[in-house]
Amino acid sequence: MPDRPRPETRCVCGHALQRFWGFCPSCGRPQVWRDVQRITGAECGTCGWVVSDKYCYCPWCRADIYEPGFSSEVPLKEPKGFRFDARCDHRCGGGVQYPMPHCPWCGKPQDWNEDRLFEGTCPRCARGVDDWMDTCPWCGKDATGRDLIAPALQEVRRLLQISRIANWGYRVLLRPGVSGVDPSYPKIVELEERYVTGPKRRDEIPWTMLVGLITHELGHSFLFHNWAWTRTPRFRRAFGEVDKAYRAMDDTWVYFQRRQVAIAPTNHVSAYAAKHPQEDFAETFRFYVTRRRRLRELFAELGRKRKGVVVFEKFLLLHEHIRSLRGWS
Ligand SMILES: [Zn+2]
Ligand SMILES: [Zn+2]
Ligand SMILES: [Zn+2]
Ligand SMILES: [Zn+2]
Ligand SMILES: [Zn+2]
Repeated sequence: MPDRPRPETRCVCGHALQRFWGFCPSCGRPQVWRDVQRITGAECGTCGWVVSDKYCYCPWCRADIYEPGFSSEVPLKEPKGFRFDARCDHRCGGGVQYPMPHCPWCGKPQDWNEDRLFEGTCPRCARGVDDWMDTCPWCGKDATGRDLIAPALQEVRRLLQISRIANWGYRVLLRPGVSGVDPSYPKIVELEERYVTGPKRRDEIPWTMLVGLITHELGHSFLFHNWAWTRTPRFRRAFGEVDKAYRAMDDTWVYFQRRQVAIAPTNHVSAYAAKHPQEDFAETFRFYVTRRRRLRELFAELGRKRKGVVVFEKFLLLHEHIRSLRGWS
């Protein structure tokens, strides 16, 4: 017997979708999930998505779709065409199917634990999103949160350009948790979203300071992308062993606002840089980029502050490495 044809779950742009995503994560087009296979024989009159005629509310747009004689007077677990994935969060007695945002029986909002289904959380709607999604499949807004820090990102891009550092494919995301770069995902730079979107905005920081934080984190990402370089004797002499035991730091923006070189410690550009060779590199990178690779000025300042020879060597090493990369012109 031939298989029943499966309904198409690709966006017209060609990107793969999961059933009931409201938006294509690639092109941002809104999606309408109709009853194409004529299983329930009912679609919501408001949003057009497939529903059951037993439902009282549309689980997708929350429209009231109660119809006497059709809608069930008692909440059901799984009417024809729908799966029972969980009980309603509000315990009305009805069943709900992932990823319904509302209960089809009582209309109340539903929470889904998406930790194991997605890599991160949308900074706008708090539902699951993956690192490489541009549009949130649930709320249709920017899934990266980059739009919330646009001026800072623009400035960082400009500084990288002035520093003649070619884009290595990094991606900056606003996410809950801590700021940092996980070596297993070396292109993904995560920034603690509370700095920008916190409800109390107590932690809100000006974009000029975000520039320092982003540049520091990009330093980590850059280093992971140039890991072979860390094996050279000259790199080891300057920065030390980047592999040494490393308790991941919580890179908090307060450390990265200064563009002036600190007087102490002697052999590091900032106090934070002395914490670990990887932090030392990220800080050297931050100063190099935010000071627009103006080594003469920077070296004059290092001299005034009586920095050790090794600090000059770190900047020279980075400068020469960037010059040696293909992106340099
Ligand atoms: Zn699309
Ligand atoms: Zn609807
Ligand atoms: Zn309910
Ligand atoms: Zn969202
Ligand atoms: Zn760091």
